[in-house]
Amino acid sequence: MQPDKIWLSPPHMEGNELELVKEAFASNWIAPLGPHVDGFEEDMTRYLGGGYAAALSSGTAAVHLALIMLDVQAGDEVICQSFTFSGSANPILYQQAVPVFIDSEQETWNMDPQLLEDAIKDRIQKGKRPKAVIAVHLYGQPAKMDEIERICNDYEIPLIEDAAEALGSTYNNRKAGTFGVMSILSFNGNKIITTSGGGMLLSRDKQYVDKARFLSTQARDKAPHYEHSHIGYNYRMSNILAALGRGQLKVLPKRLQQKRDIYAYYSQRLGRYSSVTFQPEPDFGVSNRWLTALTIDPQRSGTDREQIRTALQNQNIDSRPLWKPMHMQPVFKSAPFYGSSVSEGLFADGLCLPSGTALTEQQLNRITSIIEEKLDG
Ligand SMILES: *Cc1c(COP(=O)(O)O)cnc(C)c1O
Repeated sequence: MQPDKIWLSPPHMEGNELELVKEAFASNWIAPLGPHVDGFEEDMTRYLGGGYAAALSSGTAAVHLALIMLDVQAGDEVICQSFTFSGSANPILYQQAVPVFIDSEQETWNMDPQLLEDAIKDRIQKGKRPKAVIAVHLYGQPAKMDEIERICNDYEIPLIEDAAEALGSTYNNRKAGTFGVMSILSFNGNKIITTSGGGMLLSRDKQYVDKARFLSTQARDKAPHYEHSHIGYNYRMSNILAALGRGQLKVLPKRLQQKRDIYAYYSQRLGRYSSVTFQPEPDFGVSNRWLTALTIDPQRSGTDREQIRTALQNQNIDSRPLWKPMHMQPVFKSAPFYGSSVSEGLFADGLCLPSGTALTEQQLNRITSIIEEKLDG
């Protein structure tokens, strides 16, 4: 018999979500929009300490609308962190713009500010001023935001903060989701809180959020009939899913603690191996530890990432290599890239461990024992 399946980061419902969804049913606000959408947006901006929010159908949709609002058009260039999920970068192509990818630094695994500045200078010299920069907090670990914001300000290029993985993380006590001209969140099924699928666009500039609401509901001008002077999208979150999101947001503090506890468990057991390096967490950034991520140095251990991943898979346990950098993806092969081999190395040796917040200590022990067995050779 196969041992119980352990997933990487499955949805975790608390129970209170159902009441809110039932209430949405009872009030017959099944059709898109409705009071929970407004409520979810208000709850989120309260949690983040201000600003405005538009609840959308996905994080990818939020990135897309952000690019549209920054006037990214065909042939324009947009700078993006290479070490990320494709949802950060695909919308650049939706606009028929050109992504310019930037490698990571070792301290946070996110966009290297020095390379960002080199790239901006080089693109400007080549005659193209980038239209936007997309920075990511990978696995919840905040990027070097002071440096990145300063560079974007110096060159007057708007910054989009992709906080899809980082709800609950902080950078110098400032919450992820409050940086840049616009931020995006995701509530996809594997994220720290989920609406089964969904996202949000956030800004302290109300104009962007108003426009996102307009564009995400088919860009309907004010008229008794349907009048359109813009191309619109069907990107809004539904009232039912927003009810789910409100319930999930209530338990975010609990989820954060659970994610941190899972990381603490792994690091306590596996930190003693010189071949194991966890994603670093410098003083300036507190990660939500959405996924516990580490690298395994094959030179220092008798094993490697793939052997460990396979050993876990054989025991019905889901683990995953780190994101494959965008500049290595076939679909982006012609895109300019600034950097060396930092993210390539992390991809070669990196692994995300199961980090579902409903994991029991027994399950954590089961996972860790398999890894230890491999590392002990
Ligand atoms: C999940 C994710 C997205 C996209 O969010 P969806 O809601 O799945 O569209 C974007 N960027 C990053 C870094 C993500 O992890």
